[in-house]
Amino acid sequence: MAITGQVKLQQGREKSLLRRHPWVFSGAIDSEVGNPKPGETVDVVDSKGKWLARGAYSPLSKIRVRIWTWNQDEKVDENFLEERVRLAIGMRKALKISDETNAIRLIHGESDRLPGFIVDQYNDALVMQVLSAGAEIWREVVADSLMKVTGAKGIFERSDVDVRTLEGLEPRTGILRGEVPEKIVIEENQLQFFVNLQNGQKTGFYVDQRRNRQMLRELMPEAADVLNCFCYTGAFSVYALAGGASSVISIDSSKDALTIAEENLGINGFGEANAEWMEADVFKQLRKFRDSRQTFDVIILDPPKFAPTSALAQRASRGYKDINLLALKLLRPGGLLFTYSCSGGISADLFQKIVAGAALDAGVHAKIINKMVQGEDHPVSLDFPEGMYLKGLVCRVD
Ligand code: SAH
Repeated sequence: MAITGQVKLQQGREKSLLRRHPWVFSGAIDSEVGNPKPGETVDVVDSKGKWLARGAYSPLSKIRVRIWTWNQDEKVDENFLEERVRLAIGMRKALKISDETNAIRLIHGESDRLPGFIVDQYNDALVMQVLSAGAEIWREVVADSLMKVTGAKGIFERSDVDVRTLEGLEPRTGILRGEVPEKIVIEENQLQFFVNLQNGQKTGFYVDQRRNRQMLRELMPEAADVLNCFCYTGAFSVYALAGGASSVISIDSSKDALTIAEENLGINGFGEANAEWMEADVFKQLRKFRDSRQTFDVIILDPPKFAPTSALAQRASRGYKDINLLALKLLRPGGLLFTYSCSGGISADLFQKIVAGAALDAGVHAKIINKMVQGEDHPVSLDFPEGMYLKGLVCRVD
């Protein structure tokens, strides 16, 4: 595909591109030449006409251009994209992630220099999300590369996420290549999990928490009573039992997730374990536990994204503080809180401050004994700090 246009920046607005941040915002643009269609490749030049970078044009998005390359000699074509796919998958191989699991994020968008593409591998099936206009026009090419490089049996597309509307794209789901079962079993740290590839949340499973779930298993106190909030398909609950928990109560508002969660106990041999599943609202249920004076040794808080953008950070902060405050009150002396935020709009510093405020108001003394981030198959490009979204703290209550 040829270059179909040129985007000229206003004077002084080239700074972020010179630092290799991959987004050009509409407000930085002085003028546009040519008539590029959504997703087509454009050159970006500074106010004097000096070439800066080449990227995908998205006329409706505030992120008007997402950069593919800073090398003027590089053509954005099938070979270019296949090379990027190979690089991303090669990194996961080099990290030997497959020793731990067969559920791996293969492509993490901008951080793998493939803006708009998310690809997760679940055993021999792939799930792909296409999130931007640039990714949209190259989706078939990337699908072919993925099939070639991974040898997967099929690809399911889950482009049913809200951010597509910002790019003027309709939601789309369905089989993109080969064959993909509705449900598949994956293995993670010797534990098994059912993943619904076609209707699960996100791409089906929260692969990003793999290391943190293993940490929970390793830090599990003896004979602990565990409360897993926002449990989804029960992954933390299974790890808690694998770590020797005496009992686990798991809460989620999604009935479908809880159905799979129960199955996940069964396939790991915990069918007879002391496990209770509650279809409930965590905010309300934590208050009920407080009122009935029920206490726990370990509490996990892994809520959904409360603040997708920094504009919503304040409201989100109140949500995080509320659940952390309640959870800290429900912990017995020596108890552990595993608390997370996957909101891009909440920094690790801010999150720590929120939890500190929660402890203060709860009237407990708690200390951080570990910090957590997303797994290494969700790398963060140094030029793209926005790629860092998951942060977590393990806090111990005195
Ligand atoms: N810890 C999980 C992932 C959690 S994702 C894992 O490791 O797999 C967040 C979950 O919170 C989703 O399953 C969603 O259904 C649930 N959820 C969202 N809002 C909720 C609420 N107010 N109360 C209970 N569950 C909620």
